[in-house]
Amino acid sequence: MHPVDDVTDYAIAAPTVTTVPVVGTDAVFPVARVFCIGRNYAEHAIEMGHDPDREPPFFFTKPADAVVPSGSRLDFPRQTQDLHHEIELVVALGEGGRDIEVDDALEHVFGYAVGLDMTRRDLQAVAKKAGRPWDMAKGFDESAPCSPIRTVQDVGHPDEGAIWLRINDEPRQEGNLDQQIWKVPEAIGYLSTLVTLRAGDLIMTGTPAGVGPVEPGDRLEGHIDGVGDLSVSYEPATSG
Ligand code: MN
Repeated sequence: MHPVDDVTDYAIAAPTVTTVPVVGTDAVFPVARVFCIGRNYAEHAIEMGHDPDREPPFFFTKPADAVVPSGSRLDFPRQTQDLHHEIELVVALGEGGRDIEVDDALEHVFGYAVGLDMTRRDLQAVAKKAGRPWDMAKGFDESAPCSPIRTVQDVGHPDEGAIWLRINDEPRQEGNLDQQIWKVPEAIGYLSTLVTLRAGDLIMTGTPAGVGPVEPGDRLEGHIDGVGDLSVSYEPATSG
């Protein structure tokens, strides 16, 4: 690793940094990596056919450039006939670390946002059945829409409050942050035993019940009390 200022001879143009707006400032949050928790609400675990009481937390990732801003008009993803929505609380880390104590974990949080863990459920089903990785089901282009981040100074550490998703004004997912099996400090602590966390990492903290399909032309609106709102729409299907 070289300090950026020392490097003047990249062999190709350096990748751009994906950023997320921060409410109340012109500064933007640079995204390092995106970690996601699976099955973190009991009713969603049940709807996916699992026992919520018997699992330690597990994680998967998306590339940083899967993050796209609220208000985006998105191309319908390729290679799927079963795109699903998962509305989630997103934790933005302002400090990294490893083996972070649960009691200290919230000191590492910069802020919170509303996110969507878009999922090619058909590809995920194939991967699960074959014992293959989930990457192509979860980490595809534009698979992580994210609202502007609200800082901890602005919203504190939300651990209860409504979380919902509507499609074309129809309610699809409704839950409450207090239904999370692994709370934010526990998730940070556990994840930091698996990898060294970095400032700039985002953690998508799982989705409540009610996941389901998204069609071309749909408009998705998500909300978390106190944290904010997120909206994206998919391009309509092209005929012919
Ligand atoms: Mn998810």
